[in-house]
Amino acid sequence: MHNDSFQRYDINAEFFAFHVKKEALQDAVKGFKAIHLAGFNITVPHKTAIMPFLDEIDPLAQAIGAVNTVVNDDGRFIGYNTDGSGFLEALKKEIPSFDNKNMLLIGAGGAARAIYFTMAHAGVQSIDIANRTLDKAEYLVKNCPYPVDSAVLRIEDAEEKLSKYDLIVQTTSIGMHPEINRSPICLDRIKKDAFVSDIIYTPLETKFLQDAKRHGARTQNGIPMFAYQGALAFEKWTGILPDTERMQSIVLKHLGGKSC
Ligand code: NAP
Repeated sequence: MHNDSFQRYDINAEFFAFHVKKEALQDAVKGFKAIHLAGFNITVPHKTAIMPFLDEIDPLAQAIGAVNTVVNDDGRFIGYNTDGSGFLEALKKEIPSFDNKNMLLIGAGGAARAIYFTMAHAGVQSIDIANRTLDKAEYLVKNCPYPVDSAVLRIEDAEEKLSKYDLIVQTTSIGMHPEINRSPICLDRIKKDAFVSDIIYTPLETKFLQDAKRHGARTQNGIPMFAYQGALAFEKWTGILPDTERMQSIVLKHLGGKSC
Protein backbone atom coordinates (compact mmCIF):
# COMPACT_ATOMS: atom_id res chain seq x y z
CA MET A 1 0.00 0.00 0.00
CA HIS A 2 2.96 2.35 0.62
CA ASN A 3 4.51 1.69 -2.79
CA ASP A 4 1.17 2.31 -4.47
CA SER A 5 0.92 5.68 -2.65
CA PHE A 6 4.50 6.65 -3.56
CA GLN A 7 3.61 6.08 -7.21
CA ARG A 8 0.28 7.82 -6.97
CA TYR A 9 1.75 10.96 -5.39
CA ASP A 10 4.82 10.88 -7.64
CA ILE A 11 7.28 10.46 -4.77
CA ASN A 12 10.65 8.96 -5.63
CA ALA A 13 10.72 6.36 -2.85
CA GLU A 14 10.25 2.66 -2.27
CA PHE A 15 9.17 0.58 0.70
CA PHE A 16 11.06 -2.66 1.43
CA ALA A 17 10.80 -5.28 4.17
CA PHE A 18 13.95 -6.27 6.05
CA HIS A 19 14.26 -9.16 8.44
CA VAL A 20 16.34 -7.88 11.39
CA LYS A 21 17.36 -10.16 14.23
CA LYS A 22 17.20 -8.90 17.82
CA GLU A 23 20.99 -8.82 18.26
CA ALA A 24 21.39 -6.81 15.02
CA LEU A 25 18.76 -4.13 15.76
CA GLN A 26 21.16 -1.37 16.85
CA ASP A 27 23.43 -1.99 13.86
CA ALA A 28 20.42 -1.94 11.54
CA VAL A 29 19.39 1.49 12.91
CA LYS A 30 22.97 2.78 12.46
CA GLY A 31 22.96 1.45 8.90
CA PHE A 32 19.63 3.14 8.13
CA LYS A 33 21.11 6.41 9.37
CA ALA A 34 24.32 5.94 7.40
CA ILE A 35 22.38 5.60 4.15
CA HIS A 36 20.08 8.55 5.02
CA LEU A 37 16.88 6.51 4.99
CA ALA A 38 13.92 8.93 5.06
CA GLY A 39 11.95 6.75 7.46
CA PHE A 40 10.79 3.25 8.31
CA ASN A 41 8.26 1.14 10.20
CA ILE A 42 9.08 -1.32 12.95
CA THR A 43 6.94 -4.28 13.82
CA VAL A 44 6.89 -7.07 16.41
CA PRO A 45 9.12 -7.97 18.20
CA HIS A 46 11.16 -4.72 17.95
CA LYS A 47 8.60 -2.01 18.76
CA THR A 48 9.92 -1.39 22.28
CA ALA A 49 13.50 -2.60 21.86
CA ILE A 50 14.21 0.04 19.22
CA MET A 51 13.44 3.00 21.50
CA PRO A 52 16.93 3.41 23.09
CA PHE A 53 18.49 3.56 19.60
CA LEU A 54 16.44 6.57 18.44
CA ASP A 55 17.29 10.26 18.97
CA GLU A 56 13.86 11.37 20.13
CA ILE A 57 10.53 9.74 21.00
CA ASP A 58 7.18 11.46 20.56
CA PRO A 59 5.39 11.81 23.97
CA LEU A 60 2.44 9.53 23.00
CA ALA A 61 4.82 6.79 21.78
CA GLN A 62 6.82 7.25 24.99
CA ALA A 63 3.67 6.81 27.07
CA ILE A 64 2.59 3.77 25.04
CA GLY A 65 6.10 2.35 25.35
CA ALA A 66 6.33 1.32 21.69
CA VAL A 67 7.34 2.84 18.36
CA ASN A 68 6.06 1.64 14.97
CA THR A 69 7.17 4.58 12.80
CA VAL A 70 10.50 6.42 12.54
CA VAL A 71 11.06 9.69 10.69
CA ASN A 72 14.49 10.96 9.69
CA ASP A 73 14.36 14.64 10.62
CA ASP A 74 17.53 16.14 9.22
CA GLY A 75 19.69 13.26 10.44
CA ARG A 76 17.80 12.68 13.71
CA PHE A 77 15.62 9.59 14.05
CA ILE A 78 12.31 10.42 15.74
CA GLY A 79 10.01 7.60 16.89
CA TYR A 80 6.21 7.72 16.75
CA ASN A 81 3.37 5.31 17.38
CA THR A 82 0.54 5.35 14.84
CA ASP A 83 -1.15 2.10 15.97
CA GLY A 84 -3.46 3.77 18.50
CA SER A 85 -4.14 6.82 16.32
CA GLY A 86 -4.71 4.51 13.33
CA PHE A 87 -7.33 2.67 15.35
CA LEU A 88 -8.91 5.98 16.42
CA GLU A 89 -9.08 7.44 12.90
CA ALA A 90 -10.63 4.23 11.55
CA LEU A 91 -13.20 4.24 14.35
CA LYS A 92 -14.08 7.92 13.83
CA LYS A 93 -15.41 6.97 10.38
CA GLU A 94 -18.06 4.91 12.17
CA ILE A 95 -18.52 6.80 15.46
CA PRO A 96 -18.12 10.56 15.09
CA SER A 97 -18.15 11.36 18.84
CA PHE A 98 -16.97 9.41 21.86
CA ASP A 99 -18.66 11.62 24.48
CA ASN A 100 -20.75 9.56 26.89
CA LYS A 101 -19.45 6.31 25.40
CA ASN A 102 -18.57 3.38 27.65
CA MET A 103 -15.97 1.09 26.15
CA LEU A 104 -14.89 -2.46 26.93
CA LEU A 105 -11.36 -3.36 25.86
CA ILE A 106 -10.67 -7.10 25.64
CA GLY A 107 -6.96 -7.89 25.97
CA ALA A 108 -4.02 -6.07 27.55
CA GLY A 109 -1.10 -6.72 25.19
CA GLY A 110 0.88 -4.26 23.04
CA ALA A 111 -1.96 -3.31 20.71
CA ALA A 112 -4.42 -2.94 23.63
CA ARG A 113 -1.97 -0.59 25.36
CA ALA A 114 -1.77 1.71 22.30
CA ILE A 115 -5.56 1.67 21.91
CA TYR A 116 -6.26 2.19 25.63
CA PHE A 117 -3.98 5.23 25.95
CA THR A 118 -5.21 6.73 22.67
CA MET A 119 -8.89 6.26 23.51
CA ALA A 120 -8.35 7.65 27.03
CA HIS A 121 -6.73 10.69 25.40
CA ALA A 122 -9.63 10.93 22.93
CA GLY A 123 -12.07 11.47 25.82
CA VAL A 124 -14.09 8.24 26.00
CA GLN A 125 -16.25 8.35 29.16
CA SER A 126 -15.02 5.02 30.57
CA ILE A 127 -12.82 2.13 29.45
CA ASP A 128 -13.00 -1.17 31.33
CA ILE A 129 -10.38 -3.79 30.51
CA ALA A 130 -11.03 -7.55 30.53
CA ASN A 131 -8.05 -9.84 30.12
CA ARG A 132 -7.01 -13.41 30.92
CA THR A 133 -4.10 -12.07 32.99
CA LEU A 134 -5.54 -9.41 35.31
CA ASP A 135 -2.10 -8.06 36.34
CA LYS A 136 -1.44 -6.93 32.79
CA ALA A 137 -4.72 -5.01 32.63
CA GLU A 138 -4.02 -3.44 36.03
CA TYR A 139 -0.59 -2.38 34.79
CA LEU A 140 -2.20 -0.54 31.85
CA VAL A 141 -4.66 1.28 34.10
CA LYS A 142 -1.91 2.27 36.55
CA ASN A 143 0.38 3.58 33.80
CA CYS A 144 -2.10 5.45 31.64
CA PRO A 145 -1.05 9.13 31.50
CA TYR A 146 -4.56 10.29 30.57
CA PRO A 147 -7.33 10.19 33.21
CA VAL A 148 -10.22 7.85 32.36
CA ASP A 149 -12.69 5.94 34.50
CA SER A 150 -11.57 2.27 34.31
CA ALA A 151 -12.22 -1.07 35.97
CA VAL A 152 -10.24 -4.27 35.48
CA LEU A 153 -12.52 -7.28 34.95
CA ARG A 154 -12.31 -11.01 34.60
CA ILE A 155 -13.81 -12.14 31.30
CA GLU A 156 -16.83 -13.70 33.11
CA ASP A 157 -17.51 -10.41 34.92
CA ALA A 158 -17.34 -8.46 31.65
CA GLU A 159 -19.87 -10.90 30.15
CA GLU A 160 -22.24 -10.13 33.06
CA LYS A 161 -21.87 -6.35 32.57
CA LEU A 162 -21.90 -6.40 28.77
CA SER A 163 -25.07 -4.33 28.35
CA LYS A 164 -23.18 -1.33 29.83
CA TYR A 165 -20.91 -0.95 26.78
CA ASP A 166 -21.50 1.17 23.66
CA LEU A 167 -18.18 0.10 22.19
CA ILE A 168 -16.46 -3.29 22.50
CA VAL A 169 -12.92 -3.67 21.17
CA GLN A 170 -11.27 -7.08 20.88
CA THR A 171 -7.45 -7.03 20.83
CA THR A 172 -6.41 -10.55 21.84
CA SER A 173 -5.07 -13.00 19.27
CA ILE A 174 -8.04 -15.36 19.86
CA GLY A 175 -9.85 -15.79 16.56
CA MET A 176 -6.65 -15.93 14.51
CA HIS A 177 -5.38 -19.18 13.14
CA PRO A 178 -5.30 -21.78 14.78
CA GLU A 179 -8.02 -20.47 17.13
CA ILE A 180 -10.47 -19.43 14.39
CA ASN A 181 -13.41 -21.17 16.04
CA ARG A 182 -12.92 -19.41 19.37
CA SER A 183 -14.18 -16.08 20.66
CA PRO A 184 -12.65 -14.44 23.75
CA ILE A 185 -16.05 -13.50 25.23
CA CYS A 186 -19.71 -14.49 25.05
CA LEU A 187 -21.74 -11.62 23.55
CA ASP A 188 -25.22 -12.78 24.63
CA ARG A 189 -25.78 -9.72 26.86
CA ILE A 190 -24.59 -7.16 24.30
CA LYS A 191 -26.39 -3.78 24.13
CA LYS A 192 -28.71 -3.50 21.13
CA ASP A 193 -26.90 -0.70 19.29
CA ALA A 194 -23.33 -1.47 20.43
CA PHE A 195 -20.43 -1.03 18.03
CA VAL A 196 -18.00 -3.94 17.95
CA SER A 197 -14.45 -3.89 16.65
CA ASP A 198 -11.94 -6.71 16.27
CA ILE A 199 -8.43 -5.58 15.34
CA ILE A 200 -7.61 -8.98 13.82
CA TYR A 201 -7.53 -8.90 10.00
CA THR A 202 -6.74 -12.56 9.24
CA PRO A 203 -9.35 -13.99 9.06
CA LEU A 204 -11.30 -10.94 7.86
CA GLU A 205 -14.28 -11.94 9.98
CA THR A 206 -13.47 -13.65 13.28
CA LYS A 207 -15.96 -15.76 15.20
CA PHE A 208 -16.22 -12.81 17.62
CA LEU A 209 -17.35 -10.50 14.78
CA GLN A 210 -19.72 -13.13 13.41
CA ASP A 211 -21.32 -13.42 16.87
CA ALA A 212 -21.57 -9.63 17.14
CA LYS A 213 -23.28 -9.40 13.75
CA ARG A 214 -25.68 -12.18 14.72
CA HIS A 215 -26.69 -10.03 17.72
CA GLY A 216 -27.36 -7.10 15.39
CA ALA A 217 -24.26 -5.05 16.26
CA ARG A 218 -22.38 -2.87 13.78
CA THR A 219 -18.86 -4.23 13.28
CA GLN A 220 -15.40 -3.31 12.03
CA ASN A 221 -12.48 -5.66 11.41
CA GLY A 222 -8.74 -4.90 11.65
CA ILE A 223 -8.26 -3.75 8.05
CA PRO A 224 -9.21 -0.07 8.57
CA MET A 225 -6.85 0.20 11.59
CA PHE A 226 -4.08 -1.42 9.58
CA ALA A 227 -4.58 0.95 6.64
CA TYR A 228 -4.83 4.04 8.86
CA GLN A 229 -1.70 3.27 10.91
CA GLY A 230 0.10 3.00 7.57
CA ALA A 231 -1.49 6.16 6.20
CA LEU A 232 -0.49 8.15 9.29
CA ALA A 233 3.08 6.84 8.99
CA PHE A 234 3.09 7.83 5.31
CA GLU A 235 1.91 11.32 6.29
CA LYS A 236 4.76 11.64 8.80
CA TRP A 237 7.32 10.73 6.13
CA THR A 238 5.93 12.78 3.25
CA GLY A 239 3.48 15.39 4.60
CA ILE A 240 0.74 13.77 2.47
CA LEU A 241 -2.17 11.87 4.00
CA PRO A 242 -2.83 9.20 1.37
CA ASP A 243 -6.16 7.79 0.23
CA THR A 244 -7.00 5.34 3.04
CA GLU A 245 -9.92 3.75 1.14
CA ARG A 246 -7.50 2.84 -1.62
CA MET A 247 -4.99 1.50 0.92
CA GLN A 248 -7.71 -0.67 2.47
CA SER A 249 -8.69 -2.11 -0.87
CA ILE A 250 -5.05 -2.95 -1.67
CA VAL A 251 -4.66 -4.78 1.66
CA LEU A 252 -7.98 -6.56 1.12
CA LYS A 253 -6.96 -7.62 -2.37
CA HIS A 254 -3.77 -9.13 -0.94
CA LEU A 255 -5.77 -10.92 1.73
CA GLY A 256 -8.30 -12.03 -0.88
CA GLY A 257 -11.63 -10.91 0.51
CA LYS A 258 -14.30 -8.32 1.28
CA SER A 259 -14.28 -6.17 4.44
CA CYS A 260 -17.13 -6.26 6.94
P1 NAP B 1 0.32 -9.33 22.52
O1 NAP B 1 1.04 -8.15 23.04
O2 NAP B 1 1.03 -10.65 22.48
O3 NAP B 1 -1.05 -9.51 23.39
C1 NAP B 1 -1.86 -10.66 23.21
C2 NAP B 1 -3.17 -10.52 23.99
O4 NAP B 1 -3.97 -11.68 23.68
C3 NAP B 1 -3.02 -10.49 25.50
O5 NAP B 1 -4.08 -9.76 26.07
C4 NAP B 1 -3.19 -11.99 25.85
O6 NAP B 1 -3.65 -12.22 27.17
C5 NAP B 1 -4.27 -12.39 24.89
N1 NAP B 1 -4.26 -13.83 24.60
C6 NAP B 1 -3.42 -14.48 23.75
N2 NAP B 1 -3.72 -15.80 23.73
C7 NAP B 1 -4.75 -15.97 24.58
C8 NAP B 1 -5.51 -17.12 25.01
N3 NAP B 1 -5.27 -18.34 24.51
N4 NAP B 1 -6.52 -16.93 25.89
C9 NAP B 1 -6.79 -15.68 26.38
N5 NAP B 1 -6.10 -14.58 26.03
C10 NAP B 1 -5.09 -14.71 25.15
O7 NAP B 1 -0.18 -9.10 21.01
P2 NAP B 1 -0.53 -7.69 20.29
O8 NAP B 1 0.67 -7.16 19.62
O9 NAP B 1 -1.28 -6.82 21.26
O10 NAP B 1 -1.52 -8.20 19.12
C11 NAP B 1 -2.78 -8.76 19.43
C12 NAP B 1 -3.62 -8.94 18.17
O11 NAP B 1 -3.85 -7.69 17.53
C13 NAP B 1 -2.97 -9.83 17.10
O12 NAP B 1 -3.97 -10.65 16.60
C14 NAP B 1 -2.49 -8.85 16.05
O13 NAP B 1 -2.48 -9.41 14.75
C15 NAP B 1 -3.54 -7.76 16.14
N6 NAP B 1 -3.05 -6.42 15.71
C16 NAP B 1 -3.72 -5.80 14.68
C17 NAP B 1 -3.30 -4.55 14.26
C18 NAP B 1 -4.02 -3.85 13.12
O14 NAP B 1 -3.46 -2.91 12.53
N7 NAP B 1 -5.23 -4.23 12.80
C19 NAP B 1 -2.20 -3.91 14.86
C20 NAP B 1 -1.55 -4.57 15.93
C21 NAP B 1 -2.00 -5.84 16.34
P3 NAP B 1 -2.62 -12.36 28.42
O15 NAP B 1 -2.24 -10.96 28.79
O16 NAP B 1 -3.40 -13.07 29.44
O17 NAP B 1 -1.43 -13.14 27.90
